[in-house]
Amino acid sequence: NQPLLEVNDLKKHFPITGGFFGGVTAKVYAVDGISFAIDKGETLSLVGESGCGKSTVGKAILRLFPITSGQVVLDGQRIDDMSAGTLRPLRRRVQVVFQDPFSSLNPRLRVRDILAEPITNFGLAKNRAEVDARIADLMDTVRLPRDAVNRWPHEFSGGQRQRIGIARALAAEPDLIICDEAVSALDVSVKAQIVNLLQDLQKELGLALLFISHDLAVVEHMTHRVAVMYLGKIVEIAPRRGIFADPKHPYTQALLSAVPVPDPGAARDRIILKGDVPSPINPPKGCRFHTRCPYAFDRCRQEEPVLKATSEGHFAACHLHDETRPAAAAASN
Ligand code: SF4
Ligand code: MG
Repeated sequence: NQPLLEVNDLKKHFPITGGFFGGVTAKVYAVDGISFAIDKGETLSLVGESGCGKSTVGKAILRLFPITSGQVVLDGQRIDDMSAGTLRPLRRRVQVVFQDPFSSLNPRLRVRDILAEPITNFGLAKNRAEVDARIADLMDTVRLPRDAVNRWPHEFSGGQRQRIGIARALAAEPDLIICDEAVSALDVSVKAQIVNLLQDLQKELGLALLFISHDLAVVEHMTHRVAVMYLGKIVEIAPRRGIFADPKHPYTQALLSAVPVPDPGAARDRIILKGDVPSPINPPKGCRFHTRCPYAFDRCRQEEPVLKATSEGHFAACHLHDETRPAAAAASN
């Protein structure tokens, strides 16, 4: 059973140039060796604080820049090193919805032309009538009135613009949509509508979603699995229930402790992390989280933990979940 998308040991390091001769003086380890897979029709959420590298993962899959190393495999074919020409037919299959639909929708095009572009570019209609029929269909799909195709992006609210952004992604008839903070800029009620729309579309169309978000409260209601990133690494990956009901990594536990719950009796104890996220230019040795982890012990400062299964499909990279850990150290932190 081949996954739709596989990311293997992906690294993206950005060189920092400077100095008198403009040479490379340092590197930002934005994404530093991550692996995951997404099945057809599945939602995987990539969560973490801003700067953890999650958007860089999305952009690397979209080939918005060359990767440093690793592999991106779509339906069994490596796409990270494919020539632009060979990639063309595959590019259609992975689409993106960005956070700010206003800057990602061309203000000089009416909605009709915004949606016609991918349909004609990818050769998905034989003539003008087919293009129009498909556009009308897309408007229905994202629950916008059909006559809105004659209007300009600035005439719509933020939520409506995001529906247009989703319609544009769907116009390419993709298998996977990368949603990069796609609802983060929206008001709470609008946010819920767009999340519901994405969920409906996923069921109707069998779409896979890579849902990149810093907002665990949004993710909780719509995802199948969650990967938690910290400083360029995945520290925990598990089915939704595993992450929200039984988080294993101290960082995941801290992130969750900040998510408001409707029932105050069920509130998790708030874990306040010390300090800021360290710089990805010089990530801490050993466990990258050790400078902020309430449970850090000696081994954490020396040895980098790797992802290990804690139960079926649930993986965490933390020495606390390693049978060889010294029991006393874990208890006393
Ligand atoms: Fe904390 Fe150590 Fe686990 Fe890292 S490996 S999360 S520092 S206990
Ligand atoms: Mg981002």
